[in-house]
Amino acid sequence: MYDVEEIRAQFPILSRRIGKAPLVYLDNGASAQKPQVVIDAITRGYAEEYSNVHRGLHTLSTISTERYEGTRDVVRKFLNAASQEEIILNTGTTEGINMVAYGWAMPRMEPGDEIVLSIMEHHANIVPWHFLRERQGVVIKWVDVDANGDLDPQAVIDAIGPKTKLVAVTHMSNVLGTVVDVKAICAGAREKGVPVLVDGSQAAVHQPVDVADIGCDFYAITGHKLYGPSGAGAIYVRRERMEEMRPFMGGGDMIDQVTREAVTYNVAPMKFEAGTPSIVSTIGMGVALDWMMDLGMETIAAHERRLRDHAIERFKGLNWLNIQGQSESKGAIFSLTLEGGAHAHDISTVLDKKGIAVRAGTHCAMPLMQHMGLGATCRASFGLYNTEEEVDRLVEALELCHELFA
Ligand code: PLP
Repeated sequence: MYDVEEIRAQFPILSRRIGKAPLVYLDNGASAQKPQVVIDAITRGYAEEYSNVHRGLHTLSTISTERYEGTRDVVRKFLNAASQEEIILNTGTTEGINMVAYGWAMPRMEPGDEIVLSIMEHHANIVPWHFLRERQGVVIKWVDVDANGDLDPQAVIDAIGPKTKLVAVTHMSNVLGTVVDVKAICAGAREKGVPVLVDGSQAAVHQPVDVADIGCDFYAITGHKLYGPSGAGAIYVRRERMEEMRPFMGGGDMIDQVTREAVTYNVAPMKFEAGTPSIVSTIGMGVALDWMMDLGMETIAAHERRLRDHAIERFKGLNWLNIQGQSESKGAIFSLTLEGGAHAHDISTVLDKKGIAVRAGTHCAMPLMQHMGLGATCRASFGLYNTEEEVDRLVEALELCHELFA
């Protein structure tokens, strides 16, 4: 049985109050809170075990290196990659996607070559491709979502033409909560010989991910949404793509030999990890992923499905509330607007007075907001520690907003 109270007790911040109200944290889509095991790992990492990694032969460096490298295998297991050599540790999804843009796409794209994106992408999976458009004439082909916020995998596959070099899609929308059938997209793209990058920043938090089953070439995750520290993340890169990729940043640790005349590189994946990494944050991310896997990703997904269903049921009674995105495959992320046009910032300020943390704005997804004709929304995004009572508190606070702003 999923004991949500026992889980909540492991997150010290969840017992604090905001003003007089107990905190209801519904901004998990932006960043999640951290369990005590992660906080302890960070404290231990600095208080007892800290040193740089890979370079020293002394005891502390050996411990730090073991813990840091241990995370690589935890990520491998979390994503079900075949080998740890397919896992590059980094600072998060933004770095992961930029690495693919600079290291893999840039050297192999000519003016007029295409990248297929969905309209639902986060700016982290748009702006690096705009760089390629601006700097070397790459063409971005957009695939829209339908009125429910669904992305038809066949529409993505149909958008792949002879000049397409890459498909880059999110596994789960950070605005609408739509879960995309990336497996179908990968199967269709593979038939056309085109690699697929999947932005797993949101999906990996809420459901089991199996890159072998999905069949993608790149899968990016970000530690701070996965109940780990900020400043740590990882990207799975299929072995063949890794061999094609050029290092994105140069510096210490990623080299084999450096002379006045030349440089030779370390083996992959280390040759993509230049400089001193986010040592303790990466170790903390490994602890967070292990902790999630101990809970069970399927178990977490089932809890969040219950929260989603309860929220949908409660929202149904509110005929002045619009839920953006009605996909059948929606996760527990709700972008909300009120009839009458109350501004999302005003709504979130009222919710904050009731202790409820949500995100208001365009959610780093301006093309999607433009496509939907929306200025801003209030986003309530649920996590593994949220409860049905918290859904009810959100509903009560929204009712108050309706009274105030109608
Ligand atoms: N992609 C999606 C879908 C996201 O929701 C986010 C974060 O909000 C990112 C990418 C960027 O992640 P980060 O800022 O951790 O690099």
